[in-house]
Amino acid sequence: MKKCEYCAKEISYFEQYCCDDCQESVNKFNETRDKYSKVFSVTSFICVFGIPLGLMVFSFARALGLLLSAGSCFAMGIVLFLLPFPAENMITKYKLKKAIKITRIIGIAVIGVGLAICLLSVLLFGI
Ligand SMILES: [Zn+2]
Repeated sequence: MKKCEYCAKEISYFEQYCCDDCQESVNKFNETRDKYSKVFSVTSFICVFGIPLGLMVFSFARALGLLLSAGSCFAMGIVLFLLPFPAENMITKYKLKKAIKITRIIGIAVIGVGLAICLLSVLLFGI
């Protein structure tokens, strides 16, 4: 059975979406992604390097290292939550609606990791 490109509801072979709302949601998503894809890529790029860099800095400058790692996690998590742009293969597999939801959950998890880094630093090193 063919599925709606947005909500994954079963549809006939002649359709691409189950309803106008779904089509509208996909259009809106594409517009937002076109508009903010640069913000998304730049932030992810900085954060992916910021987390390990912060952990390295942590060995000689704890407060700065903590700020870098946790800050990168928070920034990445917030961006994933506000701009949930899933990878293409995720959209193909889960359809857009679910893929966006998963991306938001990952964003919340990344913020959680940032909080855990702060908490561990306080508990272990008393910063
Ligand atoms: Zn639909």
